[in-house]
Amino acid sequence: MPDVEIENSLKVLRDDDSDLPIGGHGRQAALTGCPWHDVNEMLQSVGLRPTRQRMALGWLLFGKGARHLTAEMLYEEATNAKVPVSLATVYNTLNQLTDAGLLRQVSVDGTKTYFDTNVTAHHHFYLENSHELVDIHDPHLMLQKMPEVPEGYEVSRVDMVVRLRKKR
Ligand SMILES: [Zn+2]
Repeated sequence: MPDVEIENSLKVLRDDDSDLPIGGHGRQAALTGCPWHDVNEMLQSVGLRPTRQRMALGWLLFGKGARHLTAEMLYEEATNAKVPVSLATVYNTLNQLTDAGLLRQVSVDGTKTYFDTNVTAHHHFYLENSHELVDIHDPHLMLQKMPEVPEGYEVSRVDMVVRLRKKR
């Protein structure tokens, strides 16, 4: 398998309320273990202004270790945590964080998209019965043969989803 370049280009996003100068872009986030401080650093390091909503959603997302969440799941958590936010804002924020390289999108069916807080290269099991995404802890998992890539293209990333169902 050829070296697959992991896609983590940090794009500067033109966000709706970014008239303030973006401070510290490109700065490496110095994580301290304090979720609130860390989320602030993470947002600033990719040039996203730490708005109240982004901070609250980021805190829910990143404060509990590696997780796989759909927009609906995060919306429900936000609602339970009394964070006043709409589903549309949750979607927008998740997409901004993904574009900035802080989240990875994993699509399972055409309909289900999970956002992974672990952006390092790894593959997934999808548990069909419980609709859960689980990391495959096998760094050696690889494709036997990569397909021929069309002229002018290169492989950006390979996402493998191994679907599992309970034995009958
Ligand atoms: Zn994962």
